[in-house]
Amino acid sequence: MVKQTIQIFARVKPTSRKQPQGIYSIDEDEKSVAALEIILPRDLADGFVNNKRESYKFKFQRIFDQESKQDTIFEIIAKPVAESVLAGYNGTIFAYGQTGSGKTFTITGGAERYSDRGIIPRTLSYIFEQLQKDSRKMYTTHVSYLEIYNECGYDLLDPRHEASSLEDLPKVTILEDPDQNIHLKNLSLQQATTEEEALNLLFLGDTNRMIAETPMNQASTRSHCIFTVHISSKEPGSATVRRAKLHLVDLAGSERVAKTGVGGQLLTEAKYINLSLHYLEQVIIALAEKHRSHIPYRNSMMTSVLRDSLGGNCMTTMIATLSLEKRNIDESISTCRFAQRVALIKNEAVLNEEIDPRLVIIRLKKEIQELKDELAFITGEQRTDQLTQMELDKLEEQITSFLEDQDPESRLEVGSDMRKIHYCFYRLKKLLSERKIPEKNEFSHEIKDKDQEGDTPLKEEELKKLRDVLKQRDNEINILVNMLKKEKKKVQDVFNLQNTNRGGTRLSLSSSPLYGGPGDDSSKASVSSTAKQTHEGSSLDYRSGFHRRKTVKKEEMSLGRQEAFEIFKQDHADNVTIEDNKQILRQRFSEAKALGESINEVRSKIGHLKEEINQRQMQRVALSITDNATGDQELDPVEEKLRSKMEEEKKSYKNMFTRLKGLKVEIEHLQLLMEKAKVKLKKEFEVWWIEEAANLQKKSVPSNSPRTPESPKQQQSQSHLSNKSGSDLIPNMKVTSSPPPSRTEPKQPSSPPNSPRLEGRVLGNSSAIPFTGDSQTDTDILAFIKARQNLLQKKGLANN
Ligand code: ADP
Ligand code: MG
Repeated sequence: MVKQTIQIFARVKPTSRKQPQGIYSIDEDEKSVAALEIILPRDLADGFVNNKRESYKFKFQRIFDQESKQDTIFEIIAKPVAESVLAGYNGTIFAYGQTGSGKTFTITGGAERYSDRGIIPRTLSYIFEQLQKDSRKMYTTHVSYLEIYNECGYDLLDPRHEASSLEDLPKVTILEDPDQNIHLKNLSLQQATTEEEALNLLFLGDTNRMIAETPMNQASTRSHCIFTVHISSKEPGSATVRRAKLHLVDLAGSERVAKTGVGGQLLTEAKYINLSLHYLEQVIIALAEKHRSHIPYRNSMMTSVLRDSLGGNCMTTMIATLSLEKRNIDESISTCRFAQRVALIKNEAVLNEEIDPRLVIIRLKKEIQELKDELAFITGEQRTDQLTQMELDKLEEQITSFLEDQDPESRLEVGSDMRKIHYCFYRLKKLLSERKIPEKNEFSHEIKDKDQEGDTPLKEEELKKLRDVLKQRDNEINILVNMLKKEKKKVQDVFNLQNTNRGGTRLSLSSSPLYGGPGDDSSKASVSSTAKQTHEGSSLDYRSGFHRRKTVKKEEMSLGRQEAFEIFKQDHADNVTIEDNKQILRQRFSEAKALGESINEVRSKIGHLKEEINQRQMQRVALSITDNATGDQELDPVEEKLRSKMEEEKKSYKNMFTRLKGLKVEIEHLQLLMEKAKVKLKKEFEVWWIEEAANLQKKSVPSNSPRTPESPKQQQSQSHLSNKSGSDLIPNMKVTSSPPPSRTEPKQPSSPPNSPRLEGRVLGNSSAIPFTGDSQTDTDILAFIKARQNLLQKKGLANN
């Protein structure tokens, strides 16, 4: 059992603007404890607290200042927890702090750079690396991803759902068994056998989390997300199974209601969130108090789920995320105060070992059989039924190994079952009569017999001759054994090679990016590559579900929407990130390609060297046989040289291979990041699109009513637009010289369906959107026209 208080760390988020000096200071002189001092600026000190204290000091295990990087955070905070989870203890890391202080950044990571990946992907990577290294045990890994919003749990890893709101996700409920253990009903546990699979699951969850969020319910700031890795391990042959869970928790924003200051729906949510964090606080206060028997875990779903992590069987770590700007001082102080209370809580982590009942059954069955045999032997009661085929096979095996065993003391143990004993005698008799006893024995017996008979004493010469024959045979056997070994190794190498080749294929497969290649924007190509991946990549449900969603969405888009989306994209800030990532991806791809080529070269070099060595050996063996020489123990300098050269090549092969593997992980991560950014972009586009359509409909309801008067500025820019070709204004927008869209716009809704006028191509050649007469599509197109017009206006104004 490990008794430990909850470890607390603080992380200060980098500030964007230059901060007035002296808001906080960090003192890390003391050993293993660091102190954070928050200094109240004088102008705040008056109104903020009654006793006008001017500075507050808080102790932490360690404080990470603004320049701390994600890898340091992982090494110092998460790695020790991951290690204890691998050893069989439960672990929890949770981030607490106000919205925008960096909880998600710390737990999951930034959405842009590979180096910004947070604790979850790094921990997954570390865990799978360790599992691979440890061949003494058998491991199974599962992950789950739960979001709690307004006291309701949702399964973020549901592969079937195309979630457009949280309510579309399966609801997770809590069940408590008589032993007060918590069970989460409906929360799916997905098996992940590799890092890649686990990362895919993480991104699936994150994408669901993002899609389910609308501007009205910014779930990420008001909900708690718990990503859990479940590891079970077992030593071969042992019935004991170890199970451990690692919770990585991104809590809701800790800001207080008073500060949120919003009415209606948002206020209820804010209160609610605070309520659940308030219950968390109550649990923590209760735990910190000595002799409290009742801990109010059950007051909220989150405290129920994290029950083990707080004051229970778990090693828990808290990260207080702080955004230490002047306006956030009060929130930062309350975050630190919370941390100080958390630091008082003692947990008692135990190894979670249990016995696997199936293995116990097997062992007990064996024991029963042995006891039965013994009983039968003692009572003299013999069994009469026939031996089964399995028993007979087993006996055959035993007899063979008994006969082959050179040890004169070896015994044939078949227990006390007379049927088995009889069978053994029968087999031995049969073998003897067939003289199937191995030749070698026969040979030595013959010599022995002759020796013993002694009637024709062997002459010195004869003896020598026999010895020579013996030696030669030994030599031959050695050669054969060596050759066999080599063959075996060759087969192994071919197998390995195939495996690496397969790895290579996967790399090139997954190198067809999920959404079009780097620099490839054509929607067709991206859809087909997605489909290809789904088809070839994996049959796993969650993956195909993940990709299917996007494929379907892409197909649903009308032409008008697609073009509008292209335009929207160009103006969107995230597009820069996507383009940047594409650039990096392209670099990584060419690096990987070059590396792959070098690896192939080295591989063929190793092959050649191997061949040379083989030939050399064969020659030497042949020589030693013909010369009858004993020279094969001596070292051949040429061969030694070849060998050391091969070792070198192997080393560089290994290095390059490791690098390639690293690159592969990075490439996959970048692809997932890009995909997420694209889904986000699409989502924001949908929102904007719907807004535009709504605005448009509002305006065009009174079909023949005069246009609402526009501001002089707008009018001016419109006339400017209609006079000038749009493409002059914005070269990269495919605007044509057709009549300005605004002119046709007010008339369209009143026109009859399929009217000849509407069937024309309104926007000219390149954009070419046919009017279908279908009212929905027409609304789409109208909205698009309107949107384009707005964009043109914006750009036009910006340009002038
Ligand atoms: P929270 O989850 O606490 O609401 P986020 O993690 O979303 O906050 O962080 C808010 C913003 O600040 C994000 O854009 C994030 O990328 C950025 N950010 C947070 N912490 C850091 C950091 N340590 N370094 C760089 N950027 C950060
Ligand atoms: Mg967040």
